[in-house]
Amino acid sequence: MGNREGGNPRYSFVIPVYNEERNLGELYRRLDGLSDRLDGEMEWVFINDGSRDQSLAFLRNLHQQDSRVTYISLARNFGQQIALTAGLHFAQGEAVIIMDADLQDPPEVALMMIERWQEGYQVVYAQRTKRHQEHWLKRFYAYVFYRLLQRLAHVDIPLDSGDFCLMDRQVVEVLNHLPERNRYLRGLRSWVGFAQTSVRFERSPRFAGDRQYTFTKSLSLAIDGLVSFSKVPLRLATYTGLCAALVALIMAGMVLYWRIVAPDSPVTGLATILIAVFFLGAVQLVSIGILGEYIGRIYEEVKGRPLYVVSEVGDRGESKA
Ligand code: UDP
Ligand code: MG
Repeated sequence: MGNREGGNPRYSFVIPVYNEERNLGELYRRLDGLSDRLDGEMEWVFINDGSRDQSLAFLRNLHQQDSRVTYISLARNFGQQIALTAGLHFAQGEAVIIMDADLQDPPEVALMMIERWQEGYQVVYAQRTKRHQEHWLKRFYAYVFYRLLQRLAHVDIPLDSGDFCLMDRQVVEVLNHLPERNRYLRGLRSWVGFAQTSVRFERSPRFAGDRQYTFTKSLSLAIDGLVSFSKVPLRLATYTGLCAALVALIMAGMVLYWRIVAPDSPVTGLATILIAVFFLGAVQLVSIGILGEYIGRIYEEVKGRPLYVVSEVGDRGESKA
């Protein structure tokens, strides 16, 4: 175990942790199982994302016992994407592997990724072929979302790939220097380019505990993804506006025609007017909402606050082992 003196580890595992006390023990065992199957040293960077259970205590303990375990503890819950960003800043390895703490991303798949990395690929992302025991509704909206994103985004974001991936140091450096606050990692990862490939795997069920993502969190992640990688929603607003204007013009023409050419025809005004008003109102509200999404992001960027606040660090080289 004792290492470090010789410089940076070859492999870093970056793992966000939010209330995962029941998974960490098993995760540690599984990661430890990889150690003699790898050709270099590992470090495990756990990011405690403001957990309210004993996760942090558990990490402190592990860190004391095993010098491969490092951790950063964020001052509150910042969300998985920010936690990952913090982890990427902190990781030292030549290859950095991102995965979830709940064992839905099997550590053994990392071995397959590492093989591809050794073949020369700089980004190896995992594509799920199956999702075990996830609710059909979640599977359904994940399915729709990934396809929507692929159609709308101006970079090619691969289907059904989550955050689980391996990235070369060179790629991590680029990501670390991206200035934006809005971190949709799987999009940024595609955006950077480099030699990319995928490995396929079946997503396991959670080992223990409940999903930390609520529906609203997932939805907000989805909107983040769409808005930071596509201007199509803005354009959609413009087009809808244009169409509405066209419809209004045609209707005006019809009314005028009836008034002049066929003055006897019964043109009932009220219903038409109501429909038109409601329709236009809806179009305007939606368009303002879409504008707001983008302006809100500009606002976030301009404020220039740090992405996260660290309250505690368990650095390398401190522990006894
Ligand atoms: N997570 C986090 N902060 C959060 C929510 C989740 O760091 O606010 C971590 C969580 O501990 C896990 C990973 O992100 O390691 C994925 O979360 P989860 O399993 O709830 O999401 P799912 O796998 O269902 O997409
Ligand atoms: Mg999970």
